[in-house]
Amino acid sequence: MDSGHYTYQFVAGNLALDFVNTVAYRSDPGKKQDHLQSAEEARQWANEAQLPDRAAIHSGAPLGPAALRRIRAVREDLFAVFHAIASDAPIPVDPLARIGEALHDCGTRRSLSTDGAEVRWTWRPAARNTDYLLYPVLVAAIELLTSEARGLVRQCEDAGCGWLFLDRSNARRRRWCSMADCGNRNKARQHYRREAGLR
Ligand SMILES: [Zn+2]
Repeated sequence: MDSGHYTYQFVAGNLALDFVNTVAYRSDPGKKQDHLQSAEEARQWANEAQLPDRAAIHSGAPLGPAALRRIRAVREDLFAVFHAIASDAPIPVDPLARIGEALHDCGTRRSLSTDGAEVRWTWRPAARNTDYLLYPVLVAAIELLTSEARGLVRQCEDAGCGWLFLDRSNARRRRWCSMADCGNRNKARQHYRREAGLR
């Protein structure tokens, strides 16, 4: 709390899920906190996520309120889709369509370029900071959605946490976003309840 800087966590095993997890305690209205509310927070997340275009995000014009709203809207669509998958519920059609459209929208500002030997994707001059941030997130999301690995998406079992992650554990029994955080807290609570004869 002293430094005023939130430390973003990258525990999900997928960039898009880590992006969704920029909301802390999503399932607890009293503690829920959105950590993508300012241009500075968006830049900090891009840096800590090591996005390929983080230098451009940092040097470009700060994201304005409309850009931040757009970024958060994409994030909430991603949450809706991945939460449904983690809950074994039908994937919602409209958020999914908007995710595809958002990637297409970013893609219109990319072009293939070559120096005669190498080929790479580059951004057109019209590219915006939102594109730099959302493009790698959306690519990670859609790669996951269109692969078998989407069946590994889970939601942390902590009552308030709400974070999403990929369960790549051998036994496929990962329950917590992080053992160091929700895992230990819930184990301590269970231990206390046992000791106190509460169950
Ligand atoms: Zn958790």
